Amino acid sequence: MNIKTRTCPSCRRRKPVAEFPGGAGGLPVHPLCRPCVEAGVRRRLASRARTRRQSKKACAQCAQLLPLAMFHWIPASRSHHSYCRPCHSAYMAARYRRVKADKAS
Ligand SMILES: [Zn+2]
Ligand SMILES: [Zn+2]
Repeated sequence: MNIKTRTCPSCRRRKPVAEFPGGAGGLPVHPLCRPCVEAGVRRRLASRARTRRQSKKACAQCAQLLPLAMFHWIPASRSHHSYCRPCHSAYMAARYRRVKADKAS
């Protein structure tokens, strides 16, 4: 009778190691017990589904409603760029050409 147990930091219950995922083939045992891991995965999936529904933004240039992944994230202002990626790169290319033209003259 020497069942290894460990305490799950999520539900704070002491459980046998067999209740924790992993541990097979030299893999590290997951710190959370199986029910807590599964609950966490479900929570993550639910929140991801929620953000997927919300994560759309109208581009200030082409006025298309596009997913946020289509906009550059600006860490300094903690917001997305108001232009979508294609519009932004077109804008940057135009600006670059203008700067180059200015330098050439
Ligand atoms: Zn747990
Ligand atoms: Zn656009």
